[in-house]
Amino acid sequence: MLSVRFWGVRGSIPCPGKATVIYGGNTPCLEIRADKRLIIVDLGSGIKPFGDWLMSPEQRKKPIDADIFITHTHWDHIMGFPMFTPIFIPTTKLRIRGPVSYDDDDLGSIIGAQLAYRYWPVRQSELVAQIEYDQIKETTLDLGGGLTVTTKYMNHPLLCLGYRFEYQGKSLITAFDHEPFRNLFPTDPADPFYDEETAREGELAAKEENDKIVHFFQDADVLIHDTQYTIPEYQTHLGWGHSAFDHAIESARRAQVKKLIFFHHDPNRTDQQLAKLEAGYRLSFKGKTSMKFLVAQEGMTVEA
Ligand SMILES: [Zn+2]
Ligand SMILES: [Zn+2]
Repeated sequence: MLSVRFWGVRGSIPCPGKATVIYGGNTPCLEIRADKRLIIVDLGSGIKPFGDWLMSPEQRKKPIDADIFITHTHWDHIMGFPMFTPIFIPTTKLRIRGPVSYDDDDLGSIIGAQLAYRYWPVRQSELVAQIEYDQIKETTLDLGGGLTVTTKYMNHPLLCLGYRFEYQGKSLITAFDHEPFRNLFPTDPADPFYDEETAREGELAAKEENDKIVHFFQDADVLIHDTQYTIPEYQTHLGWGHSAFDHAIESARRAQVKKLIFFHHDPNRTDQQLAKLEAGYRLSFKGKTSMKFLVAQEGMTVEA
């Protein structure tokens, strides 16, 4: 069985409060299970309650052994690491993989930079868990036991990977933080920088990159996609590296995804607004697609 449980669903910054009690205010952290095997995607603030749960007497019977995949090292995706209690337990084994933007950067140092006296009372060198770091690019990794992961670069200001996990014929994909590729050259002939040939090439390049994303999503059982914005909001946030709901729906429909999960909610999005958006999209696509729409919510478990 391949499944996901959501511990953090929010983008940018934790936002606890009355307006977010239903869907949750923690930043990205996913617990993925391939049967009993544990995979974690991102170390956002949601990893704090997840770590507490892992430390409960019932769960602690066996040492913690996990593969952790970081989508990218923006702070909302790594900020929970210092509060992940299993890093202070000697029997914990963690294999942390993720992309870095420059080859001379080191994933361990980027994540560990938070564990310095000026930010935190414990230093990285004081962690007693067995932690390995590995920088990864676009690739397919065999994680053993029939579990594989394929990675794909997303469109984000920082090098960012989407992950496609496959296990026993089921597939589960994470696609955040990401916005659709678009033509970066002027397309208006009245623009002084307009060039017909360049405009056409830009259009083609964007289409090719978006097609590659759809190919990566093809026939997925579960797709967890960035939906930070509505279309009007997106228009004023071009290039920020986040999608609108409609972008996620369009790519997922083209790829014939079975379940689409709206994720990386804007920190200002209230529970009421999220519920309304979910209901609206369900209604507008009723009878037009068999795809299921779900808004990611802390504590929710979804099976692939
Ligand atoms: Zn983010
Ligand atoms: Zn980001």
